Amino acid sequence: MIKNIAVIRGDCIGPEIMEQTVAVLDKVAEKFGHTFIYKEAPMGGEAIDKFGEPLPQSSLDTCLQSDSVRLSAVGGPKWDSVPKEKRPEAGLLRLRSAMGLYANIRPAKLFDELREASPLKPSITQNGIDFVVVRELIGGAYFGEHKTEKLDGEFYAQDIMGYSEHEIERIAHVAFQTARKRRKSVCSVDKANVLDSSKLWRKTVTKVAENYPDVRLSHMYVDNCAMQIVRDPSQFDVIVTENLFGDILSDEASMITGSIGMIPSSSLGDGTRGLYEPIHGSAPDIAGTNAANPIGMILSAAMMLRYSFNMLEEAKAVEDAVDAVLKAGFRTGDMISEGKIQLGCREIGREICFRI
Ligand code: NAD
Repeated sequence: MIKNIAVIRGDCIGPEIMEQTVAVLDKVAEKFGHTFIYKEAPMGGEAIDKFGEPLPQSSLDTCLQSDSVRLSAVGGPKWDSVPKEKRPEAGLLRLRSAMGLYANIRPAKLFDELREASPLKPSITQNGIDFVVVRELIGGAYFGEHKTEKLDGEFYAQDIMGYSEHEIERIAHVAFQTARKRRKSVCSVDKANVLDSSKLWRKTVTKVAENYPDVRLSHMYVDNCAMQIVRDPSQFDVIVTENLFGDILSDEASMITGSIGMIPSSSLGDGTRGLYEPIHGSAPDIAGTNAANPIGMILSAAMMLRYSFNMLEEAKAVEDAVDAVLKAGFRTGDMISEGKIQLGCREIGREICFRI
């Protein structure tokens, strides 16, 4: 297969982890007989320096014409003082919205080898942690009307959290389809005892579930879900929820698996094109030192192979290679523990390529 991949190298550690990810994809292409064509699409700080704006039209066009988009991370202290609409993050928000990416998929998986890195007790992690948070990404309170006004002599601010049936239906389909490729269980999270938007959410998700009789559906209030994630995370397979709840729960979920450098994420819309990135930022404090952990970024390449290109065997080859590297005792500095061998970003990338 021939695939065009837009590459946003990003800032600070971005180019370092992107280099290793491209090496991994090249290895996959060689082994499985594919051709991956990479097209650079500068965004964030790099684009501000070169073009005076965080997402030039040429980069957006490259992303929209590609089969998928690879992003490392953008931003850094150098661009902290530029105006809000010109900041690196503004480019990312514009890109997500231009690509119509309404579903964010974030796995929370605790690798056996990194069990000691979890802040949870062994009695809790012994049952394993392997679930996915499917978060609605372009609706709810973040995209509703925001207003601050003076009422009765004091400031009053409000943010509207609203959802249409259509917005809920499309994210519910993503959740059920994701569950079908996993353990076939969806937990829909809301606050239906209080919020109207959540009542509609629950009713609509229940209706969509009729199309997926092979997938089990349960409902949970968001406050309970926040507790259950640390009490017994093994109970979850796929969690689906709205934007604000998903923002908070997916960060909670990533913390219980240990290092921030290990976790990938994908954002999808209609069709197969997606945006794939690690969950961490550009880590300016370790940029240029070869200390970055490239695994979150490499695992997001595996997600791209699975979700956008339907290359299931290829995705598994990447994930198995990461597993094998961890089993061999190799670690970057962020996840090092006693008795393990510390390697740099380049060397970890090379070990993963070798095992593919
Ligand atoms: P960060 O995730 O970059 O770093 C937090 C801590 O985690 C740092 O100590 C860093 O060294 C460490 N870390 C992060 N990724 C790592 C990796 N792969 N390997 C080893 N250690 C790693 O968060 P921050 O410091 O709050 O933000 C730095 C910059 O990144 C800011 O400009 C922020 O706006 C930007 N940012 C970008 C994105 C994105 O592009 N999606 C997301 C979050 C933050």
